[in-house]
Amino acid sequence: MRMPTIFLSHGAPTVVIQNTPATVFLRSLATRLPAPRAILVVSAHWEEARPTVGLGAETIHDFYGFPQPLYALRYPAPPARDVAQRVAALLTPAHAAVDGTRGRDHGVWTPLMLAWPKADIPVVQLSLVGGAPAAVHFEIGRALMPLRDEGVLIVGSGSVTHNLRARPTPQPADWATLFVDWLDGTLAKGDDAALLDWKRTAPHAEINHPTPEHFDPIFVARGAAAGEAATRLHASYEFGSLSMNAYAFGALS
Ligand code: ZN
Repeated sequence: MRMPTIFLSHGAPTVVIQNTPATVFLRSLATRLPAPRAILVVSAHWEEARPTVGLGAETIHDFYGFPQPLYALRYPAPPARDVAQRVAALLTPAHAAVDGTRGRDHGVWTPLMLAWPKADIPVVQLSLVGGAPAAVHFEIGRALMPLRDEGVLIVGSGSVTHNLRARPTPQPADWATLFVDWLDGTLAKGDDAALLDWKRTAPHAEINHPTPEHFDPIFVARGAAAGEAATRLHASYEFGSLSMNAYAFGALS
């Protein structure tokens, strides 16, 4: 069957050792989806000048000042070499590159460790294109659409809201809830034009994303979705205004 695509909020690396609603959701994610043959992840934490496929299996601990046990965690899923070749071929017009050694950053391995803890499904990571407009990432997703019929789960891993300067508050701020409500409505309507024009159409876009890299993965996931219906898989907040929402695009079964 055709795989859905998903966009999830990976939160702080502590998501793997805590027990928040987002952690519980990520632990259940695999049960909500058809079983993938391989997983392609586009994470907020890797930007290159052109789309680049990472084939290394190293677990990169790209965070500082977190509890020591996090630095001992490994996610040793095998590299999906055949998918990497397919991605490079499908993205030939975008001049894709393959990096044979680049491992997985925490935007990849923290959600995967919760959702597929056996680490037995081959994984490959694809970079964002740093500074590229939303439409570029949407077109990358569109080019990758055939992978969905080859059993590959395309995952965008970022954050629905991402302002790390915002002070933790007991309740999410209005600038966050208004943005999340806008995203929910835009995805429910399938209004991809408004989604791609988010910097103008979304309320408080700049406050929610002072830099766009945590929102960019949604455009790849949505571009690969061929306009298929969105399903909100999860909704919660952490640290006040950090949305942990997750969405699927396309049929789930
Ligand atoms: Zn992140």
